[in-house]
Amino acid sequence: MLTVPLDGDVARAANWRARLTHRLARHLRTSPATLAPATPLVSFTFDDVPVCAATTGAQMMEAHGARGTFYISGGLIGTQALHWRVADADQIVALHEAGHEIGSHTYSHVFVPNLRSQDIVAESQRNATCLRAIVPGLTLESFALPYGFGSLAAKKTLASIYRTSRGIVPGLNVGRADLQLLNAHPLMDGRTDAARIARMMDEALEKKGWLVFYGHDVVENPSPYGCSPALLEAALRAASDRGIACVPVAEALRRSL
Ligand SMILES: [Zn+2]
Repeated sequence: MLTVPLDGDVARAANWRARLTHRLARHLRTSPATLAPATPLVSFTFDDVPVCAATTGAQMMEAHGARGTFYISGGLIGTQALHWRVADADQIVALHEAGHEIGSHTYSHVFVPNLRSQDIVAESQRNATCLRAIVPGLTLESFALPYGFGSLAAKKTLASIYRTSRGIVPGLNVGRADLQLLNAHPLMDGRTDAARIARMMDEALEKKGWLVFYGHDVVENPSPYGCSPALLEAALRAASDRGIACVPVAEALRRSL
């Protein structure tokens, strides 16, 4: 059984130095861009990725005409983690063929601020090699920071590899933004609810912004890092009721620049 800490589990994963580095990284943009989508957008993203997200979660999105982004660490594929079994190669192929985006999350699910630039590159290349052995020719444009933590140096390196890096800092993505630290809201029953999500959708509509959600498992009685099918359904309905398109991160970026 893996004991890798999970993305929401920031307090356990981060030491004071990483926190300081991350705080600086939050406030200093390394890849500034102006995001101005013609219509409001939502991206549902799932990290690691549990089997139930790759099956239940993906099918629920597809039923709404939505597609999401699944950030995968090659080293976790098919393994049993603390709270879930991780999707296997066939499930990753199915996601890709259904039109979902496969994103990168380092090969070893490693804490990026502790890595040297060449180690970030090596982790990225190893993950790309692994994922392209599963989906030949796969393009990897989008990255999610394991545990949500970055650093200035990491963001600069990641900018040379990926178009975006998604963090776990809440907020709507609109106007001035840092492509190497996209804001994202938790899609987790313990941290949000349907009413709060509806208000975020209203704000996205009003400000014509890009709303990103992140989560892990999609199951009844989810882990602290995941959501119930009911919460995902509520979020999908909130988007469709408002006519907000739910598209993968790479596609949302193309529509926002
Ligand atoms: Zn993760």
